[in-house]
Amino acid sequence: MSRPAVFLDRDGTIIVEKNYLSDPAQVELLDGVAEGLRLLQQQGFPLVVVSNQSGVGRGYFTMDRLKAVNARVDELLKEQAIEISGWYVCPHTPDMACNCRKPRPGMIEAACRDLDLDPRQSFVIGDKRADLDLATAVGARGILVTTGYGAGEVDYAHSVGAAVCASILDASDLIITK
Ligand SMILES: [Mg+2]
Ligand SMILES: [Zn+2]
Repeated sequence: MSRPAVFLDRDGTIIVEKNYLSDPAQVELLDGVAEGLRLLQQQGFPLVVVSNQSGVGRGYFTMDRLKAVNARVDELLKEQAIEISGWYVCPHTPDMACNCRKPRPGMIEAACRDLDLDPRQSFVIGDKRADLDLATAVGARGILVTTGYGAGEVDYAHSVGAAVCASILDASDLIITK
């Protein structure tokens, strides 16, 4: 039977937003991320990262560089006893018209196939409207965090019925006590 999961944006949600980050040494976890993800993990939610990385498609950095950044995020989370169940990345630019660039559903569809997840019982946490629109596209519940670019999307979140949280820690409380 398919399980619920928590889908997570990377930049501005798990780690500090740095425009087109490509240096593993610049990776910094946001406040509340370790605590919040640990709570979700204890509740049995698989944690799945879904990240648009058009910097690859634009030629700003290579896929190897992107993998090194993601490995650093994984390493910092493992130090906090947090295990990411799946990493999904869209390397394309907006004009490539792929099916994986958020808000299109390709990354979540792939994760649901790979990990036997049910998007309709799941949550998407992110700091941009593309994350909230992705939630809508797959029938999940969207949660805006006001870290990263999120403070500028509060009105939009309200307009689409998404919850607004100050951090992943707040979002985890909301999910667990829903
Ligand atoms: Mg983001
Ligand atoms: Zn894509």
